[in-house]
Amino acid sequence: MHEWSLASGVVLTLKKIVDEKKAKGIREVRLVVGELSQIDKDILRDAIITLSEEELGNKVNVVIEEEKARLKCNTCGYEFGFTEAFEQLKRIFCPDLKPGEECENPVHYVPELVSTYIRCPRCGSPDIEIVAGRGIWIKSVVLELEEGEKQ
Ligand SMILES: [Zn+2]
Repeated sequence: MHEWSLASGVVLTLKKIVDEKKAKGIREVRLVVGELSQIDKDILRDAIITLSEEELGNKVNVVIEEEKARLKCNTCGYEFGFTEAFEQLKRIFCPDLKPGEECENPVHYVPELVSTYIRCPRCGSPDIEIVAGRGIWIKSVVLELEEGEKQ
């Protein structure tokens, strides 16, 4: 249960913010989740709501945004998205793919592997780095203050 351990990390951070700001609680938390992070956003949201009720005494409103993956060639500096990379993977792993068929490949299960399989679409270099779209972080929070005002 990857999502639950992430959720507990998020709620611990929220608790720390409440203590530091001497707020009554957290009204809303906005998270960014990378396209490659393989996190089930619904499970994560439910887990944060459940844990925040236990730890903070109220159900926090959870907003989750997705960050699209970006890949970068370290040789020529060309940046491209996961869709472009996936087209290349299809040609490597599923050259005979019929329209409408799913391409089964290792990246489907472990998206972080994408940089080890593909080459730069512009210069052909294998030196590819993932520059966006992995991990998860807190973008902003809305605090519950004494008079119930927003911040
Ligand atoms: Zn390149």
